[in-house]
Amino acid sequence: MKIVLLGAPGAGKGTQARLLSESAGIPQVSTGDIFRAAIKNGTPVGLEAKAYLDRGALVPNEVVVKIVAERLKEEDCAGGFILDGFPRTVAQAEALEGICPVDLAIDIAVGEEDLIRRLTGRLVCKNCGASFHRDTTPSVKACEHCGGELVQRPDDNLETVRNRLKVYNEQTAPLIDYYRQKGKLEVVNGERKVEDIQGEILKILQSGSRK
Ligand code: AMP
Repeated sequence: MKIVLLGAPGAGKGTQARLLSESAGIPQVSTGDIFRAAIKNGTPVGLEAKAYLDRGALVPNEVVVKIVAERLKEEDCAGGFILDGFPRTVAQAEALEGICPVDLAIDIAVGEEDLIRRLTGRLVCKNCGASFHRDTTPSVKACEHCGGELVQRPDDNLETVRNRLKVYNEQTAPLIDYYRQKGKLEVVNGERKVEDIQGEILKILQSGSRK
């Protein structure tokens, strides 16, 4: 199954993609993670992407599309994949159709106020990328999954968060209609417990109409 997870920054795409990857045995392909790793390793892509990530702007389409095209060619993607954070523009979605058309897009819907609260209070594991929130896990000092150090992402400050949400509304939200018109869209309410959202996603995948 080739799946796109849609949703604003902070909607829980990364968390749901990780769980789904574990249960379905197909890889999570997160463009944000790819850029953060490239920045950390000081690669040419990382050097180019850093300024965009720092201000919450989108990395140019041609850079992202090339990276995704190469990643999807890898052997582990042959049996399907979960795209998390890509596509983010209609142009990227059209490019993806040319690379490898997806079966399904799942939009995780969360209201803006909740998104701001989640993002500005988010802590991520430096090692495995798992997300936590200061309010719900105040006593957690290290990652529950791997023991890694928890840090705030540099782009999770209020000013950058506002810009990321603006960019989402202007450039990424139109993808909801894009996939709806293709008959490939499912929407799940993302303002619930992680397990409940995951349960609904699994039900969608198991239903006869989505094979
Ligand atoms: P994320 O981890 O998905 O929130 O992505 C973090 C940042 O990486 C975004 O704010 C963008 O700067 C960049 N990025 C990730 N995916 C894309 C994409 N598909 N197109 C352009 N920029 C992206």
